[in-house]
Amino acid sequence: MELQSGRLLEPAPPFRFVNHKCDPNCEIFYWDDADDPSQKDRLWLQTIRPIAPGEELSIDYCWPADAAIPCRCGSSTCRGWIVDPDELHLVGKD
Ligand SMILES: [Zn+2]
Repeated sequence: MELQSGRLLEPAPPFRFVNHKCDPNCEIFYWDDADDPSQKDRLWLQTIRPIAPGEELSIDYCWPADAAIPCRCGSSTCRGWIVDPDELHLVGKD
């Protein structure tokens, strides 16, 4: 994951196992507290709707079009590609 500071983060387990869905139940929030150096470049995984027991946690990867791969998330709103919704129109136009 690319942070706003330009640094890259390789998530550790269990966060690294959060899969993509086009209709996710979680989002990642960026946190950077300028007054507390220990709170710089932090990412938070937060639910965005109620989650049923046993339901898999998911996020929308929002990858750029040049990194898109086919999506098989099974969501009724699946875009067909793991890609930023704003770049869906660019997929396959190389
Ligand atoms: Zn999908």
